[in-house]
Amino acid sequence: MFKENLEKEVSEFLKQCTGCGKCMKACPLPESDQMLIRSLNYATYKKSLPTAKTIEFAQKCIQCGACNIECPANCHREKMMLWLKTRLSNSLPKGYKNALKYKGSRLSFFQKIGRYFALKKLEPVAGELKKHVDKKDFKETPLLFYLGDSIYSPSLAQHKLIAIAEYMNKDFEILAGYKYSNGIQHYYAGLLDEADKMHDVLYDAVLKVNPATVVTITGEDYEAMKHLQKHWGLNFILKTATEWLLDNVNKLNLKGEKQKVTFHDSCILGRKENKKALPRELLDKVCTIVDIPQDKGLCLCCGFLRGEHEPDSLQRMQTKKLEQVKTKNMSVECINCWNKLAPAAEQKNIKLTDVISLVYSALEEEIKEEQAKEAEQIREEDMEE
Ligand code: SF4
Ligand code: SF4
Repeated sequence: MFKENLEKEVSEFLKQCTGCGKCMKACPLPESDQMLIRSLNYATYKKSLPTAKTIEFAQKCIQCGACNIECPANCHREKMMLWLKTRLSNSLPKGYKNALKYKGSRLSFFQKIGRYFALKKLEPVAGELKKHVDKKDFKETPLLFYLGDSIYSPSLAQHKLIAIAEYMNKDFEILAGYKYSNGIQHYYAGLLDEADKMHDVLYDAVLKVNPATVVTITGEDYEAMKHLQKHWGLNFILKTATEWLLDNVNKLNLKGEKQKVTFHDSCILGRKENKKALPRELLDKVCTIVDIPQDKGLCLCCGFLRGEHEPDSLQRMQTKKLEQVKTKNMSVECINCWNKLAPAAEQKNIKLTDVISLVYSALEEEIKEEQAKEAEQIREEDMEE
């Protein structure tokens, strides 16, 4: 259904487009300077054959949405790019395919074996949360943390968020693992049918929990849950971890010195969802924010979609961005941004952190005291027995 709707929308945009080229002027990709709207629109049209240059541009498109803002004819160039990608999805670059192959639940026998060995190495990162990976049984609770692949994030923000929830005595469930990947990478690659199948699996799992609120820690996870609301009719309140922490901030005794931190906006949460103010509101309580100047040459995107098949280009984009960071610390909101930016930040001696971790640090002493008290209580109870 989503695919048919997209096709209809895009055919309307093609009629509306005046060819002014403003979308390409707003696009952060260097290749956009050479892209002719006529070639792009022609390639997007169902029956035409795209040129090699257009195919290359489509495969480089990071679905950041910067092109939508400038259109005077209310076209959604990003959706037009997505439709073009669905037409090209049989010829995905190899690196891109590699990034997608272990995600989802409907894998071939050999993919399952490959995934088993790939994830074995990541098990220590999942740590105590490992019991939630790809699980089948869920309890019904009002609060669901959808961690997806980010259960394996080396940022460890997933553990800190759960520690904060436990500290607040919340009753919650966790949905995590590659089986429950968000499908958004497939979707952005134009593999809409595959993304649909993955959302089907997510739908079944979320239905079992029947939550009033779902909390996510990446922009892509947020998008997937939004798809479940919009196209699968699931009814829950969707929140980013930032929003959830802000809801509860009065119950948190945040302490500590306020350091200067440069903040990186996520394409999905900052631009598409228009939530730029919220992480700033939360960070303001635990640090002093320094913003990066934002213009076409300094794409807001961490390069999430560009990393696997274009490592050199990713490095160039990130280096340019990180050169603007004038503080020792940099923070992100989306954990996929953290995963993508961390190696480049390390090379530049910038300490990369995230909103959840900064809040956790301001609470850490108290959380550890609580955990120690609980451990002592358990020890005493064990001794009495
Ligand atoms: S979505 Fe982003 S990368 Fe793709 S064409 Fe639009 S501005 Fe360029
Ligand atoms: S900005 Fe809008 S009208 Fe102008 S070329 Fe791009 S899609 Fe067409």
